[in-house]
This record gives sequence, structure tokens and C-alpha cells, in this order.
Amino acid sequence: MSTSASSTKRTKLRLALICFHSCPVGRLGEKNTGGMNVYVRQLARELAAQGNQVDVFTRTHELDEPQIVPIADGARVIHLDAGPPDAPKEDLDSHYWLSGVVAIELSRRWNAPHIATFHTLARTKQRARAGERESERRAHAEHQIIDTADSIVVSTHIEKDDIARLYGANGTPLEVIPPGVDTALFQPMNTADARRELDLPDKRTILYVGRIEPLKGLDILLKAVALLNDTANTHLLIVGGSLEKDAELERLNTLAVNLGISDIVTFIGSVKQEQLPAYYSASDVFVLPSWYESFGLVALEAMSCGTPVVVSRVGGLKTFVENGKTGYLVPWRCPEPFAQSLETLLENPSLRRAMGSAARRKAMAMSWTAMATKMLACYHKNMG
Ligand code: UDP
Repeated sequence: MSTSASSTKRTKLRLALICFHSCPVGRLGEKNTGGMNVYVRQLARELAAQGNQVDVFTRTHELDEPQIVPIADGARVIHLDAGPPDAPKEDLDSHYWLSGVVAIELSRRWNAPHIATFHTLARTKQRARAGERESERRAHAEHQIIDTADSIVVSTHIEKDDIARLYGANGTPLEVIPPGVDTALFQPMNTADARRELDLPDKRTILYVGRIEPLKGLDILLKAVALLNDTANTHLLIVGGSLEKDAELERLNTLAVNLGISDIVTFIGSVKQEQLPAYYSASDVFVLPSWYESFGLVALEAMSCGTPVVVSRVGGLKTFVENGKTGYLVPWRCPEPFAQSLETLLENPSLRRAMGSAARRKAMAMSWTAMATKMLACYHKNMG
């Protein structure tokens, strides 16, 4: 996502957010739609609420979608024809940097400052998942964006260090601005009510929410659940992804069968964000076993609903999950420590309550409004 602006200091700004590869108003939790879409949508809304005029430019992804979609007073999403709506996903998946490439050109033509946010970087992703190659073209473009942008906004100090280490520090200012969570939407609900609403059995409930892809480490979660004591009284809910034919989903289904736990695992598919508070609240523990997360919004959403989290000790998760206080940070790629932390929480209601309350308090301190205010300060700074 990149931003250009054309106004003078301290006045209200006209902002262009470029979100090329997937749509900020698209269905969330599927192959190409996740945290970045939520981030851009929330940022646009908050910037508009603070009096600025915001246009989010993206590609046309569905043939029947309107070209202009208002998302708040003063903020709209504009779909542009840029390649076929059903372009093969391999062409889109590794192109997060494309917005930055577009913005380099626009910034030159409009003579407007360019602030770039990567969300994920080729070199970090590749380091996390040995063997899976990210395109050199993407890494090259990321270098180019880092060299030419007026500022880079990153979500965490970890991402800042990664850019310096893996791409070389080149003098472009790097600003750390953490994302937020909508604490009004993601509110704790009574567990029994949430289970009734979703028609879920009254069992020990473990929840994962997110896209279904190898980087999310769901195989580790299945292996961890198979190690639990009382599997008959345990239910694992996996929310996100499409339930249509999908190689990763098939691999996970086969693994669940081989581990003998297929009857306690439910793949729900993706749900609207408005339904997620009920899922988070219906669960005793939320788990995110990723190989890498640049931030991991779902863990913060679960915390905002007062649910303790068990997450991999990787990337952005280390910046807001407090080990032993709001949940557990667990060595990644190993089912055993996940199983141990899950068991500890599942067996201990008072610990769950204490950690859940601490988690909610932590989430309350992280708002999208605060994030947008910091972004605006960054835009103004870059306008000289
Ligand atoms: N999400 C959703 N419905 C789903 C699955 C996910 O609305 O079925 C949303 C979720 O609320 C979160 C985002 O998608 O805000 C995923 O963001 P995250 O940073 O956790 O993961 P990413 O997709 O960026 O890897």
C-alpha cells in the first residue's frame, strides 16, 4: 500500500491509497484477502473520519462489482481495469509489492510524496519457509521501493530491523506504526451464548482464524491437538479459507484422518468479520501456529474478545502477545510445546479468565484511530 498526497502542511489532505493486488472490500480470509485488506480499509475510514479525502485504488476483481464503492464519509474504493478479474493466483500471490511499483510512477507524475507499507517482504517470507522460493523480481522491486520512497511505514521494530538487515539501510526513513483492532466490534461475549448462537457443542474449544496456507502452520496445530489428553471432549474450529477444492485443505484433511482426529476438527470456511466475535468468544483458547507473521491481526482480535492466545514466537506476534500474561509465545514448528500450552489453558479456567482480561486490556490500548493519527503525522512530515 502506498500513499501520495497533494496539499499543504496542516491542511486536510487528499490521499491516494494504492492497494493493487487484492480488494479492501473483498471477502476476507480467502487466498488473497486478509490482514492487509483490513488494514487498508480501516486506515481509509479513520483518515476520512479525521477530515481527509481518501481514494483507495485497486484492481477490478469481480466483473459485477461497482467501479466506485463508498466505505465511509470521505472515503471510497475505486476499481480500475488492470488485468483480467480472474487472473491466476500465482500471478497475484507474490505481487504485494506491485502497489509500490505503481506508486513510484505516480509519485513522479504527480510530484507527490510516496509512503510505502509492505505488509510482507519477499526475503523475510523466504527465510521463514525454507525451500519455498519468492520471486527475485519481487525482491528487486522491493529494493527499488525502499530506495525511492519518501518513507517506509512498518508495523513493528522487527520488520524495521529486517529491512535494514535483509535489504540494507539506505537512509530512507523507516517509521514504526503498529496496526490497531476495532475493540467495539471485537468485544467479549458470554461463552455459552456465543456457542448457542453458532450452534457449537459445549466442549473444550480451540480456534484458529485465518487464511489456509502452508505458512500458517496448521499441520503443527493438528499434530498438537492429537497430543492432547481429552480429545473426545475437545473441538478444534478452523475458520477461514475456501472449502472448495484446495491442495492445502486436502493435505490438512488427510493429516487429520491419519492422526485419528478428523471427528473433532471442523473446517468452517471464511466468515464475515462481524461473525468473528462470536467465534472468538465461543472458544477457550485461540491458536496461531504460523511459520511467520508480519503482525497477526487475528491474535489481537481474539485478545480483544478476551480470549487467551497460544501463538508462534515469530515476527509481529512477539510485539503484542505477552508470554504468560495474555497468552503463550511458543517455539514454532514444534507440536509438543503447543500441546503443552493448550493443555495448561484448557485445564485451568481461572488462568484463562485472568489471561483473557489482560488480553482485552492490551487490545484496548491499540486502536485504529491512534494508528491513523500517526500515519497522518507521517504524511504531513513528508510534505515538508
Ligand atoms: N478474517 C475474516 N474472516 C475470515 C478469516 C479472516 O474476516 O473468515 C479477517 C480477520 O478478522 C483478520 C484478517 O482477515 O482481520 C486476517 O489478518 P491477519 O493479519 O491475521 O492475517 P493475514 O491474512 O494478513 O496473513
